[in-house]
Amino acid sequence: MPSGGPHDEATDTCAICDRAIEGAPLTDSETGRAFHPECVVDRLPADAAIRLLGVLALVALPTVVVWAA
Ligand SMILES: [Zn+2]
Repeated sequence: MPSGGPHDEATDTCAICDRAIEGAPLTDSETGRAFHPECVVDRLPADAAIRLLGVLALVALPTVVVWAA
């Protein structure tokens, strides 16, 4: 965290947009990082889509291998 900034040390910083969080943050209990609720909501669909692509790749890959054999 840079010194001399306007941020209060007691204020959490959003791990997504890197700005101070005023009010109640969302925290990840695994990593201890804090997020703006709206940043999490913005990010959620993208993460879900990426996970879905990963699942589709895992499902599709054996099919491609079988077809290629
Ligand atoms: Zn944020």
